[in-house]
Parts: sequence; structure tokens; C-alpha cells
Amino acid sequence: MKTKTLLLPLLALTFSTSLWAAKPAGPNGGRVLHAQPQKAEFFVTPERRAKITFLDAALSAAAPDGQQVMAIAEVPGQRTTLEFERTETGFVSRAPLPESTAPYRVVVQIRSAPDAKPTNYRIELNLAECGECGHAEYACTCEGH
Ligand SMILES: [Zn+2]
Repeated sequence: MKTKTLLLPLLALTFSTSLWAAKPAGPNGGRVLHAQPQKAEFFVTPERRAKITFLDAALSAAAPDGQQVMAIAEVPGQRTTLEFERTETGFVSRAPLPESTAPYRVVVQIRSAPDAKPTNYRIELNLAECGECGHAEYACTCEGH
């Protein structure tokens, strides 16, 4: 009896994890960028600001350590550089992402230190909701998408 009550929640957890977390999502439901030394989450706020949250090994928000962030929104025919300001656990763009009727590419540049070479992360900014995982398409966690 005792074993059964202990096992059931564990099983439920295993099943829900394998069903939903094909690819892990960030703490805000955004896209996880495999940056070094800390992973980071790219998330678009309801005000269309790009929010970068740095993460610990368990993908929980964690304060960055000297990283610098900038981004370029590549709307066809119009490139917009976004500057970021520091928050407690990362950075948020000072201006909202440009409006566009079609998805466009956003290049997020992360430097591990102010004088380090930047690493680019290219994201197709499709804000439509994925019908399977419920995340925005840019942060879809479905396997094989
Ligand atoms: Zn999905």
C-alpha cells in the first residue's frame, strides 16, 4: 500500500515529462539557447520585448556573470539593432521587436564577457502558438519540429 502511493506520483511525473518535455522550455516558456558558460532563455514578453534570462543547470533563472547581450531583428528590407538593459536574471530589450506580418529572423548575440567574441543564435520569430505543445512556434518543444 505504501509503495503504491509512493510510486503513482512518480509514474505520473515520468509520463508527463516524456510527453511534454521533448525539448526543454525555459522558465518563461521561451526558447533555450545553449550558451556558455550559462544557458539562456529567449522569450518575447507581451509588450514584444526580447527578454534573455540566464539559467542554471536545472534551467531555473540565475543571475548572469559578466555576459553581454545584443540582438538584430532581420525584417526583410529592414535590420534593427536592439540594445538591452540588465535585469536581475538577464537582459531585456530597450525597444520592442519590430512589428511584421510575417515571421522574421532574430539574431541574438551573447558575449561571455564584455571583451569576448560574440556567439550568434538565430531564431525564426514565429509568434503563432504551436497546437501541440502550446508554446509559441519560436519556442516549440515538440520533437522533430
Ligand atoms: Zn510544439
